[in-house]
Amino acid sequence: MGMKAKELVTRAGLDLDALLKDLNSAYCDEWLAYYQYWIGAKIVEGKMAGVIGGELAEHAGEELEHAEKLAKRIVQLGGTPAIAPDAWLKESTCGYLAPKDPDGKVLLEQNIQGERCAIEVYQKLLEMVAGKDPITEHLVREILEDELEHEQDLEDLHQSYPPNVKSCNC
Ligand code: FE
Ligand code: FE
Ligand code: MG
Repeated sequence: MGMKAKELVTRAGLDLDALLKDLNSAYCDEWLAYYQYWIGAKIVEGKMAGVIGGELAEHAGEELEHAEKLAKRIVQLGGTPAIAPDAWLKESTCGYLAPKDPDGKVLLEQNIQGERCAIEVYQKLLEMVAGKDPITEHLVREILEDELEHEQDLEDLHQSYPPNVKSCNC
């Protein structure tokens, strides 16, 4: 914990408990996103499976980095990041879409949905801390930038499918 880190956040007029709750929820989202991508990369089938698998694996690594950054900041602010996997689902905002259908196009659609949720989560967090907590603001801005890129990468891959290929019903 950093005593000054906490003090600065409180002095700036932020509700520390509310901030920690949102950071922890985002942390849980990141672990779920990590696993959804990681397992998707392993099981993907169909057209462009190799390319899609590579992109999903890369995104998995980036979601884990997001979890890492969030955990560090949570601890610095005197909080405790979720210590057991059951919290990931319970405290997550974006939840988990199990890749029951390994078709590449379906996986892309599920992950696009996850990215859109993540973008909303980080945009809201950014609005909460902007101009008040420069450290969290910087961290959230970096993650938001990655999530926007993730959505775009997946959309670009998705667009290369002809319109008659089946979609997910998620
Ligand atoms: Fe992420
Ligand atoms: Fe992402
Ligand atoms: Mg990418």
